[in-house]
Amino acid sequence: MARLSEQMIALGSDRSEIREAFEYGKKRAAIVGPENVFDFSIGNPSVPAPELVGTLIQQLVQDEDPVLLHGYTSAQGDLAAREALANNLNLRFGTAYDADCFYLTAGAAAALCCVLAAMSCPGDEFLTFAPYFPEYKVFIESVGGKLVVVPAEIEAFQIDFAAFEARLSPQTKAVIINSPNNPSGAVYSPETISKLSEILVRKSQEYGHVIYLISDEPYREIIYTDTALPWIPSYYNNTLVCYSFSKSLSLPGARIGYVLIPKEVEDFDLVYAAVCGAGRSLGYVCAPSLFQRVAALCSHETSDLSIYRRNRDILVQSLREMGFYCAEPGGAFYLFPRSLEPDAKAFCERAKKYDLLLVPSDSFGCPGHIRISYCVPTERIERALPKFRQLAEEYR
Ligand code: PLP
Repeated sequence: MARLSEQMIALGSDRSEIREAFEYGKKRAAIVGPENVFDFSIGNPSVPAPELVGTLIQQLVQDEDPVLLHGYTSAQGDLAAREALANNLNLRFGTAYDADCFYLTAGAAAALCCVLAAMSCPGDEFLTFAPYFPEYKVFIESVGGKLVVVPAEIEAFQIDFAAFEARLSPQTKAVIINSPNNPSGAVYSPETISKLSEILVRKSQEYGHVIYLISDEPYREIIYTDTALPWIPSYYNNTLVCYSFSKSLSLPGARIGYVLIPKEVEDFDLVYAAVCGAGRSLGYVCAPSLFQRVAALCSHETSDLSIYRRNRDILVQSLREMGFYCAEPGGAFYLFPRSLEPDAKAFCERAKKYDLLLVPSDSFGCPGHIRISYCVPTERIERALPKFRQLAEEYR
């Protein structure tokens, strides 16, 4: 029998619950027709990319030397693209980043993997807050780190600071936050980020080493709150940002994102070198070159995100009327209501009877909930409501 990595066999054989539901949906669509499957499983934006994306792709393909356009760029990304990204953030957040602060990646997933691989030393712990994006566990464990989960505060999915402090230890290398959050839609206020920063500064001093903050921000622009989203590195110097254009520009398949390492990060040169080294060791050098150019030229744009707010409003109101407990998301395009029975997997199985494809919350570290990804056309939500109602009726 082949001698292979047990860890990788396990990861490849045991698909994520999100992917499981997504693949099931494709099979069902072939049988009952795609319009009759209510797939709320995966975060694949349903609104098209901004027109400028298509125009630019056409222009670039027509006008540019194809050898250069599709050729390798610098390992960390094309200089002009990194400059454009720096300018965009500087205009929006009053910062002074330059091209050397960026490492372009194939989406936020690769950005996270690079940062985690750059940081992880034997014995290191990485903290995050439940509910969390399940791939964090995979990414952290793949580089030999340990994921430490701060239990969820299940009313509004904000930070339980007492529980957080209790889990920090001298082994803590970094804390991962994700606001707006997948799967809860929770958004952290400036006050929350200030308090988090104050604790990280105090604990870094106490332990005699930096605790990094990794801000995973694929949903930065998808926000429904009145107050602007705080720019995290302005609150805490040792922040690394992992960003993606998958959601803001509706380009998940283009695989484009970045790591931002502000110069304020302690030992910036070493941290940047380690991220480059991680990209190299993982085979992530040179993010897709065409989309480096597109993302850089479109970083001031977003898709029409207004549909997500409409979807959120319809779902929150309707599900509450049906008896679901449902925190109102402040951003992203996920809803995380409580399951109508303690076993969320059993609930999602039952939902399949109505071709409603939902994701049970167990792998998000917060049992008893379901994730509804509402980045779908509004008419699909409207047609799904009677199905949700029938499902809820079963629990009366
Ligand atoms: N982080 C979070 C919280 C996500 O929800 C996702 C994707 O859904 C990612 C990272 C990965 O994003 P990308 O498609 O850019 O790799």
